[in-house]
Amino acid sequence: MWANPMLVCYELYKVVGGWSTGDDDVVIKILYCGICHSDLHSIKNEWKNAKYPMIPGHEIAGEVTEVGKNVTKFKTGDRVGVGCMVNSCQSCESCNKGFENHCPGIIPTYNTVDLDGTITYGGYSGMVVVHERFVVRFPDTIPLDKGAPLLCAGITVYSPMKYHGLNVPGMHLGVLGLGGLGHVAVKFGKAFGMKVTVISSSPGKKQEALERLGADAFVVSKDAEEMKAAMSTMDGIINTVSANIAMAPLLGLLKPNGKMIMVGLPEKPMEIPPFALVATNKTLAGSCIGGMRDTQEMLDLAAKHDVTADIEVIDVEYVNTAMERLAKADVRYRFVIDIGNTLDKAAAAAE
Ligand SMILES: [Zn+2]
Ligand SMILES: [Zn+2]
Repeated sequence: MWANPMLVCYELYKVVGGWSTGDDDVVIKILYCGICHSDLHSIKNEWKNAKYPMIPGHEIAGEVTEVGKNVTKFKTGDRVGVGCMVNSCQSCESCNKGFENHCPGIIPTYNTVDLDGTITYGGYSGMVVVHERFVVRFPDTIPLDKGAPLLCAGITVYSPMKYHGLNVPGMHLGVLGLGGLGHVAVKFGKAFGMKVTVISSSPGKKQEALERLGADAFVVSKDAEEMKAAMSTMDGIINTVSANIAMAPLLGLLKPNGKMIMVGLPEKPMEIPPFALVATNKTLAGSCIGGMRDTQEMLDLAAKHDVTADIEVIDVEYVNTAMERLAKADVRYRFVIDIGNTLDKAAAAAE
């Protein structure tokens, strides 16, 4: 078992101590941080790139406490968020088009060497300092705790829906996998006025998908009859599953010209029978988070349609238990750490 990451963070925070606020920087007091599955992969070094000590967390929500002299977008007291990246080259073609997420020089929010040579530290912490370009504003109606997961889970599903035209009223959207990403995809699909069908291997999630999340239909992927009935009915599928599953039957759910967009990351290469794509002109694509302009647009749209994540708010003390539960997919649907109310108390108790 690893040490309580929150308390490691607190120690680091004290050691790093004073920071200098750059002219373009926003200093943020962190109030909430969502726990993304990539935090778990990272702290366990499952991607073999861990830089310890590590402060994970890229679903950060808080309040501005200070701004650099060039900052125009934010002021002290603003409710803001930081997602999966905190810097990029800011001058390449991708950056100029608003796709900082595609920049070869992207600096993820934690576990990365930043342009100044320091390691980036994420949101399981009391504060963070970020260039204003990589800070977004929370609309007033979005609570910071339920809004925090939108900064990774939300943009991850919103961006492919926008760029692959899977945001048109009346279209039929499949959401494969009902976890942190999937449940937000259902909500955005409904916000766009689409028919939404959840495809899941867990029949136990049916009632919740239909009644609480507002999905229109539910298909159990292991049930051959149900799969057959749903064949060739969907315009697109957002595939949030991070496991190696049989792709051909799932591609069979798409109409001709349908698109499946992968946002999950299965560990091993997958087998794609070409016939499943070629026969009726289907597209298989991938998508990774989204640019800063789209992230703000996603939050504004979420506010308009009342889209937020379903969360379980936890104390700092509970982080390790939450990680164990997350490993077993035992959360509906995102843990969010209440940093504002519990970090100082936990640190004081540990001393
Ligand atoms: Zn994430
Ligand atoms: Zn760039």
